[in-house]
Amino acid sequence: MLKIELAACLSCAGCIALCPEAALFLTSDSLRVNQGECTLCCLCVKFCPVTALVIDGKVRLLNSEKE
Ligand code: SF4
Ligand code: SF4
Repeated sequence: MLKIELAACLSCAGCIALCPEAALFLTSDSLRVNQGECTLCCLCVKFCPVTALVIDGKVRLLNSEKE
């Protein structure tokens, strides 16, 4: 499951633009994910400049390797 670290998210909307499933969207106060649409492709996770998107902890490892 894709999780959003709302405290880290800058609401830059970059992840929304690249999601091939249009699963991400901004409400008036925060980023949300439609879990039913998300295929866990990780594109948004790899893109996010502040590591605000994570999938079951595994992707945090990928991001730490990137740093
Ligand atoms: S790319 Fe990261 S910082 Fe930007 S809206 Fe998405 S989760 Fe938030
Ligand atoms: S993991 Fe892929 S399908 Fe899911 S929200 Fe991110 S970009 Fe969209």
